[in-house]
Amino acid sequence: MAQVQITDTTLRDAHQSLLATRFRLKDMLPVCEKMDQVGFWSLEVWGGANFDSCIRFLKEDPWERLCQFRRALPNTRLQMLLRGQNLLGYRHYSDDVVRAFVQKSADHGMDVFRVFDALNDLRNVRVSIESVKAAGKHAQGTICYTTSPVHNVSVFVAMACELEAMGCDSIAIKDMAGLLTPGVTAELVSALTHAVNIPLHLHSHATSGLAEMCQLKAVENGCFHIDTATSTLSGGTSHPATESMVAAFKDSEYDTGLNLELLQEIGAYFYGVRKKYHHFESEFTGLDTRVQVNQIPGGMISNLAHQLRDQNALGRMNEVMAEVPRVREELGYPPLVTPLSQVVGTQAVLNVLTEERYKSVTNEVKNYLLGYYGKSPTDTNDVVRQQVCGDEKVITCRPADLLDDEMPRLRKEIGHLAESEEDVLSYAMFPDIGREFLEQRAAGILVPEPLEPVDSGKSVCGAPPVEFNVALHGEKYHIKVVGKGLASQNGRAFYVLVDGISEEIIVETLDELGAIEVSESTGTNGSTRPHADAPGDVSTSMPGVVVEVLVSAGDVVKEGDSLIVVEAMKMETEIQAPINGKVMAVHVKKGDHVNPDEMLIQIG
Ligand code: MN
Repeated sequence: MAQVQITDTTLRDAHQSLLATRFRLKDMLPVCEKMDQVGFWSLEVWGGANFDSCIRFLKEDPWERLCQFRRALPNTRLQMLLRGQNLLGYRHYSDDVVRAFVQKSADHGMDVFRVFDALNDLRNVRVSIESVKAAGKHAQGTICYTTSPVHNVSVFVAMACELEAMGCDSIAIKDMAGLLTPGVTAELVSALTHAVNIPLHLHSHATSGLAEMCQLKAVENGCFHIDTATSTLSGGTSHPATESMVAAFKDSEYDTGLNLELLQEIGAYFYGVRKKYHHFESEFTGLDTRVQVNQIPGGMISNLAHQLRDQNALGRMNEVMAEVPRVREELGYPPLVTPLSQVVGTQAVLNVLTEERYKSVTNEVKNYLLGYYGKSPTDTNDVVRQQVCGDEKVITCRPADLLDDEMPRLRKEIGHLAESEEDVLSYAMFPDIGREFLEQRAAGILVPEPLEPVDSGKSVCGAPPVEFNVALHGEKYHIKVVGKGLASQNGRAFYVLVDGISEEIIVETLDELGAIEVSESTGTNGSTRPHADAPGDVSTSMPGVVVEVLVSAGDVVKEGDSLIVVEAMKMETEIQAPINGKVMAVHVKKGDHVNPDEMLIQIG
């Protein structure tokens, strides 16, 4: 008699997959008491992109979020997703940072750590797993499932055996892209069940429409833990519905014993919450079977779509989808999971938009090719590596072996802005936005700023005016107020066009609007920079933020010299001099938003 146990991912992965990780704590806490009564094996509440989103967009302290979840869910295991040596950031951290991060997470009440490495390079998960065990918590080793000419069942079985030998308490099969089929699931789970003595968990994304069948096959073959999400945040790039899977096993030997009525109340609650976040719905909802061909995870598809839309190039999505597998092959078939999904995806976008493959290369791709992410599943393409890295030496050791302890330096750098070791770790994860977050907190301005008109030239209904550009949770909208209703007890209705689409909003309190930044008055694309058209005019191939300007007016540069570092979609790209010459003008500074076709630097 094997009862199926459920890990519900609604509070972490479901909104990360469907709504760009934007759920605020205050929209989740009211239902926690109910969720705590269900009897889930665990609730995934933290980690993945949630830490980043808290600091970057929501202006919530992620550690405080964890504390509050712990208080609100006293009877259920809390679970997080941890990217091995990358923790919750995008680079490799030294071992002392990894140990401190895991210890602090455990102190705040984390019970289950699902630890993975994007390359399945187990050297990159060892220190995290040791730290979890040292804290007396549950270490779940992870197999990132992918398909390629170099991935097969015996490779994954060997990984599972190694994870068990490292001391893992369980093993997760992480099918982030929805690539598993029922037949392969049965084969894989059966092989793993025979090879290891620790429980298996299956994390399936529903993208390709096969996840429920895979979970059934997994259960029938000896994997009795499955990940689901509440029905109203299930399916598509999210997970199978909790209620459906509970119903599927009801009255069978696998009965979960969970109360369907209670689960449905939770589903109804999130039906309302989801509507509040409708601006963040992915372009691609429902089924997308293309993943069975291109292996692109759902979250990555929406990122690519965002990026292409910013470029006015959404029509090139199919070209990018075709380019992703090519780049992946050249990089030695990395699984497409964070951060490598972004590394591969951004390079594919660059290759398509610049119309010349690897003409523009992100720093991440270069570092990857040099071995700084770990060992690729198979060798990278020699020609590409030579083109990108020249004669630079490829490392073969564990990347973190090259790092000295970092905590002392980090504490010193962030200084009095850090009120705790947790703050130092937030800063370690995200040096720029982490510092900004701590500065804003110190200045007491982590409260929403009021909306302000940026173009006061127009007036509606005799009132002061009414065209705004706003950034809400990191997304930009053009808002035009076209009418307003009378104030009532519920607030006042405003009739507005959001990016040209008619909406009615009821303004209750400013808090309802979240953290709002008002951008400066914009022209057509927000720039006052000259248009780039001469051969020496340096522009960016994608919209982004300037991270560093490496030259000044008067400098003499050679073709290929790095001039500016731009960050787009969390990736850094160096922009190089197109010709030999002298820097005549620099039109950017650190922190500027830049767009294609703008002249950022002029070389004459
Ligand atoms: Mn996931």
